[in-house]
Amino acid sequence: MLGIALIVGLCVLAVFAVMLLRRFRETQRLHAALIASATELERVANTDALTGVANRGAIAAQFKQLLAQSQSGAHALAVLLIDIDHFKKVNDHHGHLAGDAVLRDAAQRMCTVLPESARFGRWGGEEFIAILPDIEPAEVSAIAERVRAVVAATPFHVDDAELSISISIGVATAPRPERRGIDRLIATADAALYRAKHAGRNRVEVG
Ligand code: GH3
Ligand code: MG
Ligand code: MG
Repeated sequence: MLGIALIVGLCVLAVFAVMLLRRFRETQRLHAALIASATELERVANTDALTGVANRGAIAAQFKQLLAQSQSGAHALAVLLIDIDHFKKVNDHHGHLAGDAVLRDAAQRMCTVLPESARFGRWGGEEFIAILPDIEPAEVSAIAERVRAVVAATPFHVDDAELSISISIGVATAPRPERRGIDRLIATADAALYRAKHAGRNRVEVG
């Protein structure tokens, strides 16, 4: 009698253990799925849907963080404000979809010549921004020039058309100790960009 009761008890225990294990595995699976969707949600929230680079919110957050870190770093931080020249004409002459393709290709080209440490994003419309942390001020102009050249050097192929595209770049460098905030640095880069446009476009101006 005792033996039968023991076997029944063990069977109940075994069933209970299997149920617990299944519940545990299901919880683990749900947890992994939740983490994966949270990661994907974060990626989508930080990415510009058209070009695939960081969007303004994401790049602004990185800018803030890098500027804070640069206070204690050995080198300067530089910002390149980049604007496609006469971009409205691309839309007007070739259509909005062609304009979209140029934005995507230009962003990809610029990424290929930036240093690995650089952060790059779409600042809005046909404007992009590159942040160069921990950089020697003497190197900044050469990097900006590489970015300008990679866009202007070869035409963009959109549908059957070959489009010559150029960009203007305004540079601001924040040497240590940096007391200016992001807004002041952007204003300096923006003023330099304005000068680049007025000097004939397809050029780099340092603020
Ligand atoms: P500038 O050389 O002075 O910068 O001239 P611009 O024509 O590039 O500047 P403007 O500000 O006159 O025009 C920018 C155009 O960019 C207008 C707007 O319709 C277009 N644009 C902004 N965002 C997008 C986009 O996501 N896709 C497309 N196709 N066009 C866009
Ligand atoms: Mg613009
Ligand atoms: Mg423009």
